[in-house]
Amino acid sequence: MFADVIIDIQHEKLDKIFQYRIPEAIGEKLEAGMEVIVPFGKGNRQIKGYVTGISETCDYDLSKVKDIAAISEQGVEIEAKLIALAAWMKQNYGGTMIQALKTVLPIKQKENAKVKKRLRLLLDRDTGERQLHYYLEKNQKARARLMAALLDDPVLEYELVTKKLNITMPVIRALEEQGVLALETEQVFRDPVKKAEGPAKQITFTDEQRHVIGRFREDYLSGERKTYLIHGVTGSGKTEVYMEMIQTVVDQGKQAIVLIPEIALTYQTVMRFYRKFGGRVSIMNSRLSPGERYDQMMRARAGEVDVMIGPRSALFTPFPDLGLIVIDEEHEPTYKSEQTPRYHARETAVRRAQMEGASVVLGSATPSMEAMYRARRGEYELFEMKNRSRMQKMAEVYTVDMREELKSGSRSILSRKLSELMADRLEKKEQIMLFLNRRGYSGFVSCRECGYVVKCPHCDVSLSVHRDGIMRCHYCGYEQPRITECPECGSRYIGEFRAGTQQIEDIVKAQFPDARVLRMDMDTTRQKDAHEKILSAFANEEADVLVGTQMIVKGHDFPNVTLVGVLAADMSLYTADYRSGERTFQLLTQAAGRAGRGERPGAAVIQTYDPGHYAIETAAAQDYEAFYEEEIRYRELMGYPPAEHLLAVHAASEDQPLLEEGCRYLKAYILRIIRSMERGGTDGRDREREGAQVIGPASPGIDKIKDVYRRVIYIKAYEYKALVGIKDKTEQYIEINTGFNKIRIQFDFDPM
Ligand code: ADP
Ligand code: ZN
Ligand code: ZN
Repeated sequence: MFADVIIDIQHEKLDKIFQYRIPEAIGEKLEAGMEVIVPFGKGNRQIKGYVTGISETCDYDLSKVKDIAAISEQGVEIEAKLIALAAWMKQNYGGTMIQALKTVLPIKQKENAKVKKRLRLLLDRDTGERQLHYYLEKNQKARARLMAALLDDPVLEYELVTKKLNITMPVIRALEEQGVLALETEQVFRDPVKKAEGPAKQITFTDEQRHVIGRFREDYLSGERKTYLIHGVTGSGKTEVYMEMIQTVVDQGKQAIVLIPEIALTYQTVMRFYRKFGGRVSIMNSRLSPGERYDQMMRARAGEVDVMIGPRSALFTPFPDLGLIVIDEEHEPTYKSEQTPRYHARETAVRRAQMEGASVVLGSATPSMEAMYRARRGEYELFEMKNRSRMQKMAEVYTVDMREELKSGSRSILSRKLSELMADRLEKKEQIMLFLNRRGYSGFVSCRECGYVVKCPHCDVSLSVHRDGIMRCHYCGYEQPRITECPECGSRYIGEFRAGTQQIEDIVKAQFPDARVLRMDMDTTRQKDAHEKILSAFANEEADVLVGTQMIVKGHDFPNVTLVGVLAADMSLYTADYRSGERTFQLLTQAAGRAGRGERPGAAVIQTYDPGHYAIETAAAQDYEAFYEEEIRYRELMGYPPAEHLLAVHAASEDQPLLEEGCRYLKAYILRIIRSMERGGTDGRDREREGAQVIGPASPGIDKIKDVYRRVIYIKAYEYKALVGIKDKTEQYIEINTGFNKIRIQFDFDPM
C-alpha cells in the first residue's frame, strides 16, 4: 500500500503529493489525515507530512519510493472531509496545500489530556476484611488505612486517597500488584463554558420570527439544504431564530457551528446558548489555552457537543454529522482571513455545507453587498425581519453638518445638538455611547506651515502620538519622542490635530464634570478580559458615558442606552477602497441600532462633514434598500465585486529594484494569459464577459512595512473561474522563474 503525503515545508516547489510506501508495522493504523514522519530529500532528513490519501498502486519508479518512517505521536488527525475542503480552498484562494491543510486544522498539536484517576476495590467483602487484618498484623499502617477506606467505599478518587488519606503511589502500586485494587484513569475534557444559573427565557415568537423558523424547518425536514440570508434589524430577534433552527437540526441528531465575530462573542451571548443547549455547547476562541482548544476539538469529534460557537476558525470544527452553519454579523470583515489561503468564511461555509449535506444561515442588520447580491439572484433564500422583537421603535437619527457648526462659531468636537441631548440624558440618568472611528489619543503629527507628516521610517505610515508623549507606529511598534519643530521647514507649528478617544473622554469630562465616563479602545483593552470588564461595568450602569472605537458598536444589548453619538462619521469614507461606502453605511447603521433597545425610545446623532454622501444619507434614514441600490450601481459601473471579481496579486521584497522589475514581468505575463484566454473564447460565448483587465502594479496603500517593499497588481474579471485560471498559471510562472526567488507573491481574491 502507498500513501499520498503532503510535505510540511512552506515552499511552492514542494507543493505536490509525494508517494511513500506504507511499511507493514504501521499499515493497519494509518489513515488519511494523519500526520506522519517521512525521510525527505537526498539526505533523508526526517520531516513531517500529512497523509491525504491511500492507494494500492504507485505512480513512480518503485525502486525510488521510500518508506514512511512513523506516524507522528504529537500530530492531530485531520478529517478526510476537511482535506477535501482544504483542496478546494487551495484551488480557489491560492497558496500551498500545506497552508490550506493547516488552516482547516485549527489545533496543530496534541495537548496532554487531563485525566481523572480512581481506585477500585477488586476483592469481595470477606477477602477484603481478611486482607485488612493481614496488613494490621504486619503493622503496614498505610496499606491498612487504604484497605479500610476501600471497604467503606469500593471506588475512591485518586486525589482523595493521596491528599486526604496521605497514601503514596508506591503503596497504591503494591496493592495493585497484589490484585487488591485497580487504578483506573478516565480522560476528562476541559470545558471552557462557565455554567450559569437560570433557565432559558420563555418568549413568544413574533410573526416574523415564526415565519422564518417555520420555513427553515419545513425545508430541513424535507431534506432540502440551502443557504439563507436573514436581513433583520438590530434587536429583531435573529439570535432567538438561530437557536430554534439549531434545535431543529440537533433534534435530527446533527450538529451546528455558530460563527460570531470574536469581539461580539461575549459571556452574555454564550450564556443564551448555554441556557438552551446546556453542556452540549462549547466555544472556541483565542483566549482558550491550547489544552482547552484541543479538548474542544476532541469533544466535537467524539460527539460530546452539538453546538460549537466561535470566530472564523470554528468553521473547521470536526463534527461527525454537520447539519447547520450559522454566520452571525455576516458582513463583518473579520470573516475574511488575512493569511494565505485568504479564504472568506461565508463562501467556505457554503462549500463545506454542500460537501457535508448541511444548511447555512447568514444573518445581519446590514448584509454585505455579496450576500444581498446573491440573495437577489436567487442563490440564497432571503428573509426580512423589519421589526424589533419587543416592538421598540428604531432610533430617531439627527445628522449634524459640522461645517455649519464651525460657521456658527461652535468649535467643539461635540456639536450643539449632541451636547444638548447628552445633558438631557445625563439628567434623566440614561446612558450614552460616543463612537469614534479611530484609535489612540490623537492622529498623525503634521506641520501646519508646510504639510510635512511624521512617518515611521520602516513602514510608510504616519506615527501617532500617545498620551505619554511618545509617537508610535501601529504596524511595527517603532517609537520616538514627539517633536516640537518641523524637520522640513523648521516651523514650530507642528502637532497633532485629529481627535482620539482619549481626547473625547477628556472633553466630555470637562463639559460634564459629574458624568462617569468609561473608554474602550485598543489601549484600554490590551489586557485579557479587559474588553469584557468594561462592557459589563457599562451594562451594570457603573458609568453614564462609554467612549470608544468600532469595538463598542458590535452586538451588545444595553437597554438603558438612549443616545448614540457618532463623531467624524465620514472618516471611514476617505480610505482608498471600493468598500468604504459599504463600511461607513454598516458602521453608522450598527451604531444607530445601539440606541433605544430597552423600553425608552432612542436617538442617534451623526456628525459629518459630508451629509450629502449617499452612505451617510441612507444610514441616517436607516434605509438599507436605498443604500444597496445606489451601491450596487456603483459596483456594476466600476466592475467591482460582487458585480465582478477582483484578484489582488501582492508582491513583496526587501529589494526594491528587483520588486519593480518582477512586477513588470508579472504584469506582462498576466496580460499574455488573458490574451490567450480571449482567443480561446470564440465559439459564440460572450467575449466581453470572458475578458479580464489588469491594473497596476500599484501601491497597496502602504508601500513599505518593516523594511519590506510592497506592490500589488489587480485583475478584474466577470468570472471568478477566469481569475482562478490566471492564479494557477501565475503560480507556475513564478515557480519556474528563479527571478522570483526573492519576491514573495500572495493572492487575495475579492479583497476586503
Ligand atoms: P438580534 O440578534 O436580531 O439583534 P436578539 O435575538 O439578540 O436580536 O434579540 C434582542 C433581545 O430581544 C434579546 O434580549 C432577546 O432575548 C429578546 N427577544 C428576541 N425575540 C423576542 C421575542 N419574540 N419576545 C421577547 N423578547 C425577544
Ligand atoms: Zn514644516
Ligand atoms: Zn513601523
